Amino acid sequence: MASLTGFTRACSCRLSPLLSRLSFFTESPHVRRFLSVPLLISVSVSCFAARPIVSSSVRVAVDLTDAPRNIFHSSITLPAIPGEITLVYPKWIPGNHRPSGPIANVAGLHFRAGNQELAWHRDPIEMYSFHVTVPPGAKEIQATFDLISADSAGGGGPAASTNLLDLNWNQVVLYPDGVASDAVECLPSVRLPAGWKYGTALTTASATGDEVTFSPVSLTTLVDSPLIAGAHYRQVELVPAGEIPGQVMDMVAESDADLEITPADTAAYRKLVVEADALFGAHHYLQYHFLYTLSDSVGHHGLEHHQSSDNSAPGRTLLDPHKHLLEADLLPHEFVHSWNGKYRRPAGLATKNYQEPMIGDLLWVYEGLTDYLGNVLTARSELWSPEQYREELAMTAAMLDHRAGRNWRPLEDTAVSVQTLRMLGPQWENWRRGLDYYPEGDLIWLEVDTIIRKQSGGRRSLDDFCRRFDGGESGPPKVVTYTFDDLVRELNAIAPYDWAGLLKERVRATSAHAPLGGIEGSGWRLVYNDKPNAFRTARAEESKMTSAAYSLGFTLGKEGQFIDVIPGSPAYQAGLGPGMKLIAVGGRAWTPTVLTQALHSAQINHQPIEVIVKNGEFFKTYSIPYFEGEKIPHLERVEGQADLLTEILKPKTGPAAKE
Ligand SMILES: [Zn+2]
Repeated sequence: MASLTGFTRACSCRLSPLLSRLSFFTESPHVRRFLSVPLLISVSVSCFAARPIVSSSVRVAVDLTDAPRNIFHSSITLPAIPGEITLVYPKWIPGNHRPSGPIANVAGLHFRAGNQELAWHRDPIEMYSFHVTVPPGAKEIQATFDLISADSAGGGGPAASTNLLDLNWNQVVLYPDGVASDAVECLPSVRLPAGWKYGTALTTASATGDEVTFSPVSLTTLVDSPLIAGAHYRQVELVPAGEIPGQVMDMVAESDADLEITPADTAAYRKLVVEADALFGAHHYLQYHFLYTLSDSVGHHGLEHHQSSDNSAPGRTLLDPHKHLLEADLLPHEFVHSWNGKYRRPAGLATKNYQEPMIGDLLWVYEGLTDYLGNVLTARSELWSPEQYREELAMTAAMLDHRAGRNWRPLEDTAVSVQTLRMLGPQWENWRRGLDYYPEGDLIWLEVDTIIRKQSGGRRSLDDFCRRFDGGESGPPKVVTYTFDDLVRELNAIAPYDWAGLLKERVRATSAHAPLGGIEGSGWRLVYNDKPNAFRTARAEESKMTSAAYSLGFTLGKEGQFIDVIPGSPAYQAGLGPGMKLIAVGGRAWTPTVLTQALHSAQINHQPIEVIVKNGEFFKTYSIPYFEGEKIPHLERVEGQADLLTEILKPKTGPAAKE
């Protein structure tokens, strides 16, 4: 069976995965990249002399004309050799760090050789694998299927709407089992809804009407190059015309009005490009596309790629101050990933293809450092003011400092557990912990930054580390892997310190409190008072949620349902839990204002707060003895200490050029 298979392992020698690539993708330029001389010498001649050679590429044609109905029609034509083959649907998705390929949304699957329908069966263990027998004489087979894109956006929700779509190629391809994605050459094409325009980092080879054919790329590059398209499209140049690499923002929205980017934002995103270049000192793309979908009708997410990022946010994000504030860090975060995540990648996340499992133990670097740098660049590019950066950091620090789950779960375990922790509901999240390796990275890497600055007497900073670690030489996309030991070595090259000890303590030990040393070391402290925090206000406005997280210890949904109750908090001690519903406070029907007034009254009269709560069909009165009033987080300056945080947030390239 193995000797007849088109794509599965043919030799039992340890180089067999490479050999299967040699057999079927010899003409691929991506294969040639692998054929270093020492490797060829080590391959036994008999191994690949016995293999037939097929030189065709995989043709991937996607009909997107049904996007408004959230169904993408895909046709994949693959070279084949008679016998049994196994084709696989991408399972472990880069950037998702987990087996999130939407296999359940593959419908209408058929395999054909010419006009002959071929029987197929799914592997009973591996749901992403399909077994097919290629008939004698066939040189290629065609697979066709529909992707139901109704909930296939990265963060959940539809990938398309009446006016726009977001195509992630991993969702519309099949490829031979066992081969490296670098070794599969693809010829991609799409058919768009009439009149829609598109943005992608793929190179257009030809466009006729609504049919677009792209230049051949490896499967790796194809999956790394999403496409957005829409009836309302706008492109904004982020570097002067003719400058290399070209960097643009491609936007689609439900209306032209939502694409009205302000001159200040245009200047800020141009500055983002310049500031990132100044931070890293090199880039690993030949062009860069910020793909930005603005819509209330699709799922919202951000997904990083080498030469583009796939971002989606609410429709009015460019124009509404609250949405703008909350989403400002999205594009900077995904942009940073081109360096930190795509170019420098933890060894456990650099897999040969999309079926190989990923190991997420270093996600506190991949995502945590990116989150820190993304926020810093949001401030340096003036999408946030320094004050806004500090308010956001205060919210993050307070949230993590109240995470009861940190008593049992080390941060690294939230990273290792990414495949079980994503897409969960918020109930008891403070006890379970969520994807804390993102926000806690903001604290850990600020601490690292302040230590480098102090250890080096102000001569060095985390910027120098980023330049060394994520910078390197400019060129096309490339992956350089690292381990924990590599990271420690690179940090020591910038400023000698017990980095291994510090980082192990931060990520592998449990600790009741969040690491606030970076905030304190940069001349600030976390405080709570009753003054509004702009992020808290904006989130309350956008989500219609009410937070009493750091006072009573809970958050409430619009209708008064307890979204989460923090273990150890006054509300928890009183017996409240998520899933219950707040009916009345102090004998009065609950509203956010009534709750705030009750907090103030208890502070003055020192009487417990009485609440009536509904749990299923039953009502009960609870008494919460809490007298400290509202607690809203902020950062407060520590006088007499150097203000390193303000230094960190200063643009490296001067103020933004105003239009
Ligand atoms: Zn990220």
